[in-house]
Amino acid sequence: MDFELTEEQKEIKRTVREFAEREIRPHVMEWDEAQHFPREIFPQLAQLGLMGVNFPAEYGGAGLGHTELALIIEELARVDGSVAISLAAHNSLCAGHIEEAGTEEQKRKYLAPLARGEKLGCWSLTEPQAGSDASGTRTTARLEGDFWVLNGSKTFTSNGTYADICVAMAMTDKTAHKHGISAFIIERGTPGFRSGKKENKMGLRASDTAEIIFEDCRIPKENCLGKPGEGFIDSLKVLDKGRISIAALAVGMAQGAFEASLHYAQLRRQFGKPIAEFEAIQWKLADMGTEIEAARLLTLRAARHADQNRRVTRESAMAKLFAGETAVKVANEAVQIHGGYGFIKDYPVEKYYRDVKLCTIGEGTSEIQRLVIARELLRNANL
Ligand SMILES: Cc1cc2nc3c(=O)[nH]c(=O)nc-3n(C[C@H](O)[C@H](O)[C@H](O)COP(=O)(O)OP(=O)(O)OC[C@H]3O[C@@H](n4cnc5c(N)ncnc54)[C@H](O)[C@@H]3O)c2cc1C
Repeated sequence: MDFELTEEQKEIKRTVREFAEREIRPHVMEWDEAQHFPREIFPQLAQLGLMGVNFPAEYGGAGLGHTELALIIEELARVDGSVAISLAAHNSLCAGHIEEAGTEEQKRKYLAPLARGEKLGCWSLTEPQAGSDASGTRTTARLEGDFWVLNGSKTFTSNGTYADICVAMAMTDKTAHKHGISAFIIERGTPGFRSGKKENKMGLRASDTAEIIFEDCRIPKENCLGKPGEGFIDSLKVLDKGRISIAALAVGMAQGAFEASLHYAQLRRQFGKPIAEFEAIQWKLADMGTEIEAARLLTLRAARHADQNRRVTRESAMAKLFAGETAVKVANEAVQIHGGYGFIKDYPVEKYYRDVKLCTIGEGTSEIQRLVIARELLRNANL
């Protein structure tokens, strides 16, 4: 398999890298400390076409693929995981679900402004009592005439405080269990829809993670996304592709931590020479570089499969599992290479160390990825 990037892909990477270095890097620690969600950066992301990378031009997108989206998320995450995860949730989850299951009218009305970056999206599946087992959804939606009435609350929704458009899952038929879960599109400003508590997080602190609350929230009947009862199944399809973005997020943050370590190891002197000359440090750098490259290749393979409209359940779970675990390992070694300075906020690895942990948790924990992978391997072994 050839993973050489095309000239266009290299140019996209270059452009996003320059943008991130220029517009994001100078503010990273200030945003992190203040838990400031940088809304001001989103018009610029939109101008670069990053808010709808992989959607067709007819729906306001850039008409590119999942490969380009992965490259973009990696480059943003290399500088700041918070901006990268916010973009990933908007693109891969909210807009991705509307593209996956929306009617022509829904795509024109909701996907297009999301893809053009005029609106920000969020996607609410997780609930306080329904995390890994999202089939335990308790939020309900009942049909009353021409309206669905939603009640319940969602937790840990990325972009939840600021999103203009929310895609949320709710139970429409309890007796059908996971086949009774449906997806809905809710616009900010709809009575009965509001954001709740904004979480105070360990990492990715400039990203927004919040509760979403529905209290007799009435939305038009036509805002059911996909067929009633198929919201959970569609969510799994959305997550299959979304996990490629989380893998790219992990690769980008690992790359950032790695580069900082390479640099530091050559500058820091102990026992009369740069610590990069100690074999113990060289082995760490060698392992970090090798594992990041392996994670990147798994991520690009999954993205390539998605671009070929192939099923990516196994590929994206493998990419997300490996990249997430690798990023945690790499960030840990990055702090170690920095010694005491790695523990201090003046050096960027302290933040990478906090931020990367999300990659083994969000969009399915590492345990759940292993469960998905094993299921896929066994399913194919039985054929
Ligand atoms: C920063 C952040 C952003 C997020 N963004 C979103 C978002 O935009 N939208 C959204 O819907 N959700 C979002 N989430 C939620 C995220 O997807 C969940 O946190 C995740 O799926 C895990 O669910 P949980 O936290 O309830 O953990 P739990 O499901 O309670 O898991 C606790 C532990 O038990 C393990 N476990 C559970 N079941 C099994 C099993 N069958 N076998 C083995 N181990 C198991 C887990 O792996 C984990 O180690 C976000 C979370 C965070 C932290």
